[in-house]
Amino acid sequence: MTGNCGAGRSPARFTSVIPKASGLPCNGVRLTCGMTIRFLSILLLPFLSAFSVFAQQTPQSLADTELPSLLAIYKDIHIHPELSGHEERSAAIVAKGLKDAGCEVTERVGKYEKPGLTCFGVVGVMKNGAGPTVLVRSDLDALPVHEETGLPYASTVTTKNDEGKDVPVMHACGHDIHMSTLIGTARTLDKLKDKWHGTIIFIGQPAEEVVGGARAMLKDGLYTRWPKPDYALALHDDAEIETGKIGITEGYAFANVDSVDVTVHGIGGHGAYPHKTKDPIVLSAEIINAWQTIASRENNPINPVVITVGSIHGGTKHNIIPDEVQMQLTVRTYKKEVRDKVLAAIERIAKDCATAFGLPPDKLPEVHVLQNEFSPATYNNPELTRRVAATLKAALGNDNVVAKDPSMGAEDFCEFSLPDHSIPALMFVVGAVDPAKVAESKKSGTSLPSLHSSKFAPVPEPTIRTGIIGMTSAVLELMKK
Ligand SMILES: [Zn+2]
Ligand SMILES: [Zn+2]
Repeated sequence: MTGNCGAGRSPARFTSVIPKASGLPCNGVRLTCGMTIRFLSILLLPFLSAFSVFAQQTPQSLADTELPSLLAIYKDIHIHPELSGHEERSAAIVAKGLKDAGCEVTERVGKYEKPGLTCFGVVGVMKNGAGPTVLVRSDLDALPVHEETGLPYASTVTTKNDEGKDVPVMHACGHDIHMSTLIGTARTLDKLKDKWHGTIIFIGQPAEEVVGGARAMLKDGLYTRWPKPDYALALHDDAEIETGKIGITEGYAFANVDSVDVTVHGIGGHGAYPHKTKDPIVLSAEIINAWQTIASRENNPINPVVITVGSIHGGTKHNIIPDEVQMQLTVRTYKKEVRDKVLAAIERIAKDCATAFGLPPDKLPEVHVLQNEFSPATYNNPELTRRVAATLKAALGNDNVVAKDPSMGAEDFCEFSLPDHSIPALMFVVGAVDPAKVAESKKSGTSLPSLHSSKFAPVPEPTIRTGIIGMTSAVLELMKK
């Protein structure tokens, strides 16, 4: 990108013009040739300066210019993290940043399922004539984690969560990096308007960590009140990749996530007389083991499946067999057909185990898939991914764009792609770790603090810089004139 713009070459080219100019007759103006040069220089200076400023306008140089003020914004957001659904201050900072970058901004966009909750979604529209529409999203929320990074700008915030309990708050997923990068990207693209055309929709999305913010914004008419995008882009910081690098995954990047509640009924009684009961704890143990055969025996092994029982509660005392056991599951898949099959198998196995255990039909387990908590898989459109990967390599160098393995984690960015993935979408990751620490970790085999860890401390300057260059370059590629 830098080579195309010829930054730094214009003065040399101008100097080479001077001797020719000095050889020209002085056109009746009584000036020495030296004076002519000075006179011409004065005349040409405004044009030269304009050209010179224009020549320096690359994503790289603009990111460097914006970094000091973005770092101040980053630290301010980091010190003041807000839990999901409460991102009032963070949303206001993003809204101001987008307004100052020339966007038309609408605040409080979004309608949650739960009535009475304010949704702090931000929409910033940057128009630049006819052309494609591209959505660029940052999330806004932090996590109930007690920060232990020891950084001078570490969070000491505590607040009440939605259950009224006091909890610490920390940007342990780096959404503060995303917000600062979004503002920097908007500023950069505003200054590069001669290189693109169309409409950019910048999104500040609340409630990513609990899933629901993206859906709430779509429910509030994101794609009817504003233009429906041709492409959707987002980035996430990465706790394993070195700063200066971008990681990219083609196809499925994050999983479908289902939360499932299961109640296993039994017939309680004395712990000393099990033959007079139907013990739901023993039955639950059988069901849990049988569920693992869904992944290992029923599923085609090339399709990833995770079934985790994260919570199990039953009974009150050593010698009492309870009447029921409650379980909470997280179920992860990629493809829709795999998801449907796995959820059906969870119910079938639970009920069939109970029948085999001798329970009557009215005491079979109740299996409840929580539809409101479903988060669909993030699918990086292959064609878009390849196109953007080539652009990122050109902007950052081949070695700085690396393949990133898919994960069974979740991201609700995929909502912007719509359930049928009809809007091509891409989320890439930006390395946030000091390269020396990555090398040390590889050598020693000691894991680095992961996302959501109380010790996760992204290195802000190079991460935000690479994020801006990457996102700006991707948008320019999709919207180039
Ligand atoms: Zn997170
Ligand atoms: Zn995150």
